[in-house]
Amino acid sequence: MANGGTVPEGPETRQQADRIARALVGECLAEVWFAFPQLQPFAALLCGRRVDAVESRGKALLVRCDNGLNVYSHNQLYGRWLVGVRGRLPRTNRQLRVALHTETRSALLYSASEIEVLTDGDLAGHRFLARLGPDVLDRDVDEVLVAARLAEARFRRRSLGALLLDQTFVAGLGNYLRSEILFVARLDAALRPIDLDTDRRRELAAAIVRIARRALRLGGVTNDPDDVRRLRAEGVPRLGYRHYVFGREGRPCRLCGEVIERSTVAGRRVYSCPACQAG
Ligand SMILES: [Zn+2]
Repeated sequence: MANGGTVPEGPETRQQADRIARALVGECLAEVWFAFPQLQPFAALLCGRRVDAVESRGKALLVRCDNGLNVYSHNQLYGRWLVGVRGRLPRTNRQLRVALHTETRSALLYSASEIEVLTDGDLAGHRFLARLGPDVLDRDVDEVLVAARLAEARFRRRSLGALLLDQTFVAGLGNYLRSEILFVARLDAALRPIDLDTDRRRELAAAIVRIARRALRLGGVTNDPDDVRRLRAEGVPRLGYRHYVFGREGRPCRLCGEVIERSTVAGRRVYSCPACQAG
């Protein structure tokens, strides 16, 4: 499983979108099926339409069609898109919720409960999409933009532990990325942007962009690539090399050897090195 059993965050959602895009984009939908009765009337409107793009927005996903209709899904904890050859349903106990078939391929959404069909015009006013901050995985988002957001009045007095999970600040971050980014930036989750000088805010912004994109590029791996290569060569399994600190409670810090601690910040578990992230 691409995300190693954790909840999909921005990188995992973008990977799903890219997989679906490879199957559907440029093709016409030959058959469309929705489990929810309120969505079933849209099946006929989508059938025969060409898929123009598949995009992720934070942890939401849009399948965009040439008649201005979009299949919107937000996977929450359990939703999962599977892509494959048409006519070969994967063996799974999950509930099928959406099926998009071309002549030869299928994109199947299981278990998700947040599914809608939206017009292009609906997107800007959508209750979730409209509130999203810039997507950390979008090409035009860089550390300068993220640093400027950290300095904004509405964000600068929030704790970093809360801010890094807030999709209105930056979209696409989630719980494992939060711990990993704070470790790379050597910051405690209780600090606020206003506690940091301009250079430290810039370093944090750089870590936000770099670690999220590394996770996208390396299938959810956030640890230092050289360290990952070394550990893999030693036969260490994915769980042992994937992250710097996340899920590594009680194990030694990869940089200083101090014992990694686990705590709860903004209702979710966070992992940190008490030495590297002091104060
Ligand atoms: Zn350390």
